Amino acid sequence: MNVLVTGGAGYIGSVTAELLLDAGHAVTVFDNLERGHRAAVDARARLIEGDLRSPQAVRAAMEAARPDAVMHFAAYALVPESMEHPERYFRNNVAGGMNLAEAMLEAGVRRIVFSSTCATYGEPERVPITEDVAQRPTNPYGESKLMFERILHWYERLHGLQPVFLRYFNACGATRKFGEDHDPETHLIPIVLQAALGRREKVFIYGDDYDTPDGTCLRDYIHIADLARAHLLALTSAHTGAFNLGNGTGYSVREVIETARRVTGRPIPAEVAARRPGDPPRLVAGAEKAGAELGWRPAFPELETIIRSAWTWHRAHPEGYGSG
Ligand code: UDP
Repeated sequence: MNVLVTGGAGYIGSVTAELLLDAGHAVTVFDNLERGHRAAVDARARLIEGDLRSPQAVRAAMEAARPDAVMHFAAYALVPESMEHPERYFRNNVAGGMNLAEAMLEAGVRRIVFSSTCATYGEPERVPITEDVAQRPTNPYGESKLMFERILHWYERLHGLQPVFLRYFNACGATRKFGEDHDPETHLIPIVLQAALGRREKVFIYGDDYDTPDGTCLRDYIHIADLARAHLLALTSAHTGAFNLGNGTGYSVREVIETARRVTGRPIPAEVAARRPGDPPRLVAGAEKAGAELGWRPAFPELETIIRSAWTWHRAHPEGYGSG
């Protein structure tokens, strides 16, 4: 297939483009390189630089790529930023998404695999979180993703789009080529590995008085290559609708730090700090639906394997893509 990958220079988009190309698909990446990296675009892909917020740029990319399907990763994805600048999130993630969906309709492209998130559930009413849990986002980032899900849902009913919403839990790990490089970095595993590399003095544990076994928050860490494979399955599946993507196991912040100490052989100093506002104590996926309907089985569910892959990439790219 010929696939247009928006945000293909970002973390999850770059790895999915790599897998698509490995599987023999043709890939056009559409990215404005504002937060993505040119070095994260696979050399086998075609890159069109452009901004989702420009309807003309999106339409021109659709005409140039003539895709059979779209994978839509391009978005802002920082919760704290979304609480300060909600308009950025609605403009880029919602209005930008609409530019894309409308360009697809004009070009007769129906299949769209959309990067959604467990942040659409907010503080979930039950855990493990299955797709039928009420979606009540607690920040504009999660709200913007939910809004675009709803828009796609109506475009499916009324215009025949075929959307799949993949709701990621905590994406992490790396392939040999591509890994995680955000600025600023806010995610636990890269921060822990930066401390292992000596690029940070220590790791702050945001709260150890939660109602969890060791008092720190539980998250469902899912390997980026497993996420990417779910996109390939969704591309050719007859199903539409929402799928949670996680391993179904929650690891605590302390367990992540301990595992990283073992994997890296470095001490990784850690200090307990105040809770981070808005952190739910447990976010664990019920992902059976993706197994049953897409045939998805995570190949790298162990935290140690995930952290080892990230460590290999971070050691090869100690300054991120800037040093690659
Ligand atoms: N966390 C932490 N120290 C950090 C970064 C994150 O203790 O420097 C915690 C955070 O409070 C959360 C978990 O690690 O409980 C995962 O956070 P991350 O930002 O990686 O992902 P989120 O679950 O917020 O999307």
